[in-house]
Amino acid sequence: KAGLTKTRQNFVEKVEQIFTGYKKIDEELYEELEEVLIRSDVGVNTSMELVERLRKEVKQRKISDPQELTKVLQELIVELLGKEETIAFAERGPSVILVVGVNGVGKTTTIGKLANRFKLDGKRVVLAAGDTFRAAAIDQLEVWGERSGVEVIKQREGADPAAVAYDAVQAAKSREMDVVLVDTAGRLHNKVNLMEELRKVKRVIEREIPGAPHEVLLVLDATTGQNALQQAKLFQEVAGVTGIVLTKLDGTAKGGVVLGIQGETRIPVKWIGIGEGMEDLRPFVPKDFAEALFG
Ligand code: GDP
Repeated sequence: KAGLTKTRQNFVEKVEQIFTGYKKIDEELYEELEEVLIRSDVGVNTSMELVERLRKEVKQRKISDPQELTKVLQELIVELLGKEETIAFAERGPSVILVVGVNGVGKTTTIGKLANRFKLDGKRVVLAAGDTFRAAAIDQLEVWGERSGVEVIKQREGADPAAVAYDAVQAAKSREMDVVLVDTAGRLHNKVNLMEELRKVKRVIEREIPGAPHEVLLVLDATTGQNALQQAKLFQEVAGVTGIVLTKLDGTAKGGVVLGIQGETRIPVKWIGIGEGMEDLRPFVPKDFAEALFG
């Protein structure tokens, strides 16, 4: 439930206001609903799709009272969000999780939180400081490594990220580690470079461990709303994303973007960030999310 208060106010309370403001279900109601959904960062296509589905349900179930629509909309949202998706781990040997995303979205923090979580689950974790473009990124990853008692494999600033990934995977194999979390650079200004760099890192990992990387997690900042949706589309194209971590859901009114991401990319949201602390990462459970939203 934590952190969804503002999204609830911005989204569900407005939707409910529409439903209580109408005596019957008509075209105007649907239009107003669509507008509220779009303004709540649900995204144009997903908003239209939800309203379309709602129309169908109303017809099929012969609903005439607008008050009944909240319940139906909640059901449709749960359906849209799909089932809970877990992280893919290797059956044997180290699992490699590549973490991608634009600078500032909370990538390093998320890696730190995940490392801590996996460690608490009894896994042996190693981190790869693959964002070699910024010295600060390497330092920060080390701070998180110390905090969670996890080793960080690094090279100097400017080194080849693929070489860092290689070192980390080697270390994981020889020391029988369970999880390698690989940080990557998040410079977006050059799509071709970004793509090349990620491809090379992936290639090295694939060569060392068949079937790896087992996950490509994209970190997105919920407070950026529609930008997050654009980034999801871009990284889906360049990196073959298998799951999303949506950060900073605490305190933002833009939580509706979860629906837009699911509706428009079909990439499952696997974790949500709800604060800056080590513990502030939760598996994303669609049903719970919808319930928390609708209070
Ligand atoms: P990076 O550049 O993507 O590696 O981003 P960082 O991990 O350095 O995070 C950027 C800022 O966002 C830091 O101040 C973090 O504390 C903050 N941050 C990360 N995740 C969350 C979250 O879930 N909630 C909040 N409120 N802040 C977060």
